[in-house]
Amino acid sequence: MEFRTEPCPTPGPDQVLVELAACGVCTFERRLFAGDKPWYPVSPGHEISGVVVEVGSGVDALEGSPQVGEAVTVDLLTRCLTCGPCRRGRTALCRYRQGRHLSDGTFTFGGLVETISVNARSTHPVGSAPMLHAAMGEPIACSVHSLRRAGFMAGARVAIIGGGFMGRLHMALVRIEGASAIGVVDISVERRREAEEAGADWVAGSREARQVGGLQDVVFVTAMGGLDLAVEMVAPGGSVVLYSAFDPEATVNVPADRAHRDEVSIVGAYSQEPEDWKRAAAIIRSGVIADDLDRLVTARFPLSRAHEALTLVTSRPTYRVFVENEPG
Ligand SMILES: [Zn+2]
Ligand SMILES: [Zn+2]
Repeated sequence: MEFRTEPCPTPGPDQVLVELAACGVCTFERRLFAGDKPWYPVSPGHEISGVVVEVGSGVDALEGSPQVGEAVTVDLLTRCLTCGPCRRGRTALCRYRQGRHLSDGTFTFGGLVETISVNARSTHPVGSAPMLHAAMGEPIACSVHSLRRAGFMAGARVAIIGGGFMGRLHMALVRIEGASAIGVVDISVERRREAEEAGADWVAGSREARQVGGLQDVVFVTAMGGLDLAVEMVAPGGSVVLYSAFDPEATVNVPADRAHRDEVSIVGAYSQEPEDWKRAAAIIRSGVIADDLDRLVTARFPLSRAHEALTLVTSRPTYRVFVENEPG
């Protein structure tokens, strides 16, 4: 890993310049650093918060647009808005690789930098929320998207398979959205204990989950396994949401007649869309899941020690590790 000096970006008319506050290290960065996704060279980081330091001429003084000095969470995806899914409004499914380029053409996700120029519409003000919470905007937006895909409604019984960072964000969101009971299934005793401390109504290992939790209206699968269990646990009329990435060979098997008679649905949830960001930013700003978010901060490192953050996430299970900019 190396640091590079790049020319300071100038915001275009509809852009704003954001000074980084914090960048979360996601599974994607872990895979890049561990060599599981050998896309090199690459400049990683896609979960950021920051402060607006300059606004483009077309943005300045527009009602509702971010102002200089405002704290924001930033959507770094670059949807083409032209491909089939984008034209149908399903921008999470944009057919083009998401990202930008450094001055020499190196591919970048944009996040691990001191300043970045982004479209004003991709920044969402977070008020006085902590900047680490604001840096969780992207994964929160993904979870909001996942609830939307689930057709989640207040009163639902929810099981979350996988008590990692994403599982815990799902847990916080379904709680504020009125789940009647929330269970977390994880093989790790420690993660089960931590989920319970954070307010899970029940926790279980995968073997006893069906018995402990009973039938569920929504089962979110946020771990790489647990597909058979999810299908076993879903109640008539319920849905299984495939949130995690899975092995390309993995299949999910639902007897066709059961899907018909029980109206059981299996849905995928991938990434997020602008409307998910609006909700995510509002949730961060309101502080309604602030305690949940605080519990998910595993460690913080200054930008100059970003390699330590990446080493940490590749060496042991973590919730979220953050890299923070040292202003000035
Ligand atoms: Zn992410
Ligand atoms: Zn597209």
